[in-house]
Formats: sequence, structure tokens, C-alpha cells
Amino acid sequence: MRCYKLEKFKNQVSLLPYKMDKPAYSGLIIDLKGPVYNEMQEGDLTHKIITTGSKEFIDFLVGEKIPHIFATNVTSETRDDIVENLKNIGLDIPSEKIMTCIDTCMGYLKRENLENIYLISGNEKLRKIFDDEFNLIGGYEPDGEVPHAVVVGYDKGFNARVMNDAVAFVLYGARLVALHMNSRRMTLDGRVECNVGAYIACIARGAEIDETEIVVVGKPNREFYRQAFSRLNMKVNTSKILVIGDDPEADLRGGRNFGMSTAFFPTNKYPEWPGHMEFQPDITITETLEELIPYFSKMEQ
Ligand SMILES: [Mg+2]
Repeated sequence: MRCYKLEKFKNQVSLLPYKMDKPAYSGLIIDLKGPVYNEMQEGDLTHKIITTGSKEFIDFLVGEKIPHIFATNVTSETRDDIVENLKNIGLDIPSEKIMTCIDTCMGYLKRENLENIYLISGNEKLRKIFDDEFNLIGGYEPDGEVPHAVVVGYDKGFNARVMNDAVAFVLYGARLVALHMNSRRMTLDGRVECNVGAYIACIARGAEIDETEIVVVGKPNREFYRQAFSRLNMKVNTSKILVIGDDPEADLRGGRNFGMSTAFFPTNKYPEWPGHMEFQPDITITETLEELIPYFSKMEQ
């Protein structure tokens, strides 16, 4: 029997096409934070905790050789950190299966020959990675150097001075590059914090540029999904690719705009599907990623 654990999901099987002789989907793009792991705080330390069923689901994908890639907009960790941290919670995910908005950003800056960068990021390792490849410049000085690009990542120290400098640079011709456009994030003690999308809105408003002039390199940018699709290396219609995420805007709208199917994984960021979204996800997960197994299994009836 090729499809296992179907008994567990027999209530869901009725949702699937009757007597389906082919899996509903062929490949996946999986958001990491939310669907695969979450974070909790103990004192000053942040711990990652694996979500129930995600290891079993990933083992299923590997065992059945179902093409998949992990896509993340996290800018507070480098790719090596991500691999290491996943290992610590029992997930052995090869580096080449992880796609980050930092990778797509560096590719973009190099392709466009943008060398002098004003980087907004509170992450020292990330600053070092950019510093190794580009010329990082400090804040705005009258008659000082103007960077080719202002690159915006998450920075809990983002303040009016940083915003003013970024606005000045954009006014003097620097390109505005967003690592992603997530509007907000939840802190571990349940507070709301503005994220890159909110910083970008402030800078764009200050410099009076419109959204067509903003370069977004992470999710939900079309280029990000194009690269992810090409890395899956599959000759199928994009609708056969299922995008899994907990952020309706960043994860699912981007995938949908590229013609992919969508699975919503509710977390404390979005406990339910927001009413203002003009589309519905193809699947809403209730508890664990294992609920998706039947959609990738050939039904034998
Ligand atoms: Mg997420």
C-alpha cells in the first residue's frame, strides 16, 4: 500500500477527488518558521521547538522522493545558522534545500552591480556576510557617500534616525531593496513588532516613491517563486506545486500569483484566515503537516 497513515486521515480523504489515481500535488515549497518550527522563550534564551508532525511529514517527502524546498524570509539568521538550528531540533535538512531571501538579495545586488550598500539589519552575522561581499557604508552625512542601494531587513533598533538616513539616500538615488515585505512579527512574549514591510512603507512615503520603485527580493516576490520553482526542477504545471505557509500575504499570495496551490498553516501570527484576503487557500491545516500526506499519495481504491 503506497499511501500510509491514510486511516488517520480518513475524515479528510472525503475532501479529495473521488478515486484519484494521481497525487493531487507533485512538489512543495514549505515555509520554515510556523509550519516546521516555532520559538519559545526561557529567560533570555530563545528556543526553537519542532511543530508536531513536521519531522514525520518531511521524512515522508524524503522517503517518497517528493520534490520540495524550504523557503524562508527570516533575516535574523544566516543559512548556516538555520541548518545548525534545525539540526538541534532533530531535522537534518541539507543546505541546498533551503532558500532564503538573503540568497536572492545577494544574487540581485551582484547582477545589478550594486556594490555600495546601506544595510538596515540588527543581525551581526548578516552584517558580516554582506560586509564580506559588498562595501557597507554608515549613516547619511551631507556631502558624504551615497550608496547604490538601501537594503532593508529586520532590525529591532529601527528608529527615526535610521529611517531619515534611508530616506535621504533614496532621495539621492539609492535603490530601495526589501529583503521581504512581512508587515509585522510576534515577539515571544506576545507583543506585536513592526517588520520590514512597515519600515519600507515609512521610507517609501518619506522619499515619495511608489511601490513599483521598490525591489522586493524575498517572499512574496514573483522572482523568489520563479527561482524556487526552477530549483524544484520539475516539468509540471505550477498548480501542481503546493506552497505551505503561516503568512497569507508573504507566503501564500506570492505562490498563488505564480499559479501555485496554497495550504494555510494557522499560528499565533494569523490564528485564522484574514477576512480581507480576496482569495481562500486551497487547504487549511488544522493541526499538523501530516494532514497533507493524502494529497501526495496515490489513492488505490
Ligand atoms: Mg512563517
